[in-house]
Amino acid sequence: MNQQVDLLAIAAHRDDVELTCGGTIVKAVKAGHRVGILDLTQGESGTRGDAATRAAEAERAAKVLGVELRLNAGLPDAHLQNDEPSRVRVVELIRATRPRVVILPFPIGRHPDHRVASELGRDACYLAGLAKYGSPAGGKPHRPFKVLYSLAYREDPVKPSFVVDISSVFETKMAAIRCYASQFDGAKAAGEIHPTGQDLYELIRVQSAHYGSLIRSAHGEPFFCYETLEVQDVLQLGVQSL
Ligand SMILES: [Zn+2]
Repeated sequence: MNQQVDLLAIAAHRDDVELTCGGTIVKAVKAGHRVGILDLTQGESGTRGDAATRAAEAERAAKVLGVELRLNAGLPDAHLQNDEPSRVRVVELIRATRPRVVILPFPIGRHPDHRVASELGRDACYLAGLAKYGSPAGGKPHRPFKVLYSLAYREDPVKPSFVVDISSVFETKMAAIRCYASQFDGAKAAGEIHPTGQDLYELIRVQSAHYGSLIRSAHGEPFFCYETLEVQDVLQLGVQSL
């Protein structure tokens, strides 16, 4: 089976990707790109649902998003470490999927796994390109060209580097999130989303509308990247200033 993808979203838990960048994934799929998801853990330590339930939910959500493949690194939930065995495992999966662009969680997070996933993912992206790292059986070297961080639901004073307009695919993102009934039905908070008393689905809608407003659109997903973004023609820039 060809596991090669253009875009790979890596996150700690099975619902993280849908919440933070599900719309961006659907948009990339619709644009004709091959997209994959790498969940680092199986969710065995989650308060709600068990690993088997979450596996079935993740499979349904992947179908809704339209991704080519969804992999699981099988690393320990709630005990994620950026250690040598974990890096070797993630390097193998990056070499197997060979993405040009990787989406990672933001480097700061409420859940320790989110912080570790961010650092582990970035280190693995670098190490995957080292010719002499790992055993030859672990795949040919490959270093992703671009690393992006999903910034959704963060409260840190970090301005998004850019926002992806997900207005046209917002309902598909919500349908993918609703696949995780064991996690979200009746919930008031999740992962990085703080409780406000509102229904979680409504909270996601409100947050998404806020990010959308930053680019004068109905719904958006925010991202951060360390590098400066290049512009070829200033006359093509969107988002009205005044
Ligand atoms: Zn999570």
